[in-house]
Amino acid sequence: MDTREQLAEHLKFLTELGVPGLARDKAWRRQLPSSPVGLPAIREEIGDCTRCKLHRLGRRQIVFGVGNPNATLMFAGEAPGRDEDVQGIPFVGRAGQLLTKMIEAIGMTRDEVYIANVIKCRPPENRNPEPDEVAACEPFLFRQVESIKPKVIVALGTFAAQALLRTREPISRLRGQQFTYGDATLIPTFHPAFLLRSPERKRDVWEDMKKVRALLDLDPSGRA
Ligand code: SF4
Repeated sequence: MDTREQLAEHLKFLTELGVPGLARDKAWRRQLPSSPVGLPAIREEIGDCTRCKLHRLGRRQIVFGVGNPNATLMFAGEAPGRDEDVQGIPFVGRAGQLLTKMIEAIGMTRDEVYIANVIKCRPPENRNPEPDEVAACEPFLFRQVESIKPKVIVALGTFAAQALLRTREPISRLRGQQFTYGDATLIPTFHPAFLLRSPERKRDVWEDMKKVRALLDLDPSGRA
């Protein structure tokens, strides 16, 4: 075994032991905090973005995100719809009103949390985002998370959960579990737009929101 192979084996062994800072997997690396960058700097970097085709498919404006830049709770959704595209604020339509109720149900206000989407421009006719669009835009969401450093992230729907967890599992499989994303706990749940179509699933989301409340109530030592 030459020196390179020995080093690779050694790193693999340390990684298996759980020693941090050694994993070679790109998805793992991208979740590590990078140099601290504030939200205004991230917005400035997005600029009048043309990184994916959505910039020429009828978007009115980029919908960056809204809320407390130091929030302990962050919501990540899919993409702006018609109302969001008009107002430049995520989750302001009917689904947004439902999200507001979810937030208030755990004793918080929209001003206290941070809300953003994986995709910052409205897909035409509210179609699903396409893989190239997600790939182009998701790094901005990751950086928003890095900047905000929330204690809990709620991934709303398949696209947010898949982007943040680097998985292809649908939300129906992910929901009910909890994951680690950097220093945060990630709770996948159904998107409020889905709940408008399937109100019988609201009970599941309420269970998830109770879990979120409990996580936020834990002190840093992990005791309730
Ligand atoms: Fe840029 Fe994201 Fe808009 Fe695509 S969706 S143009 S990557 S801001």
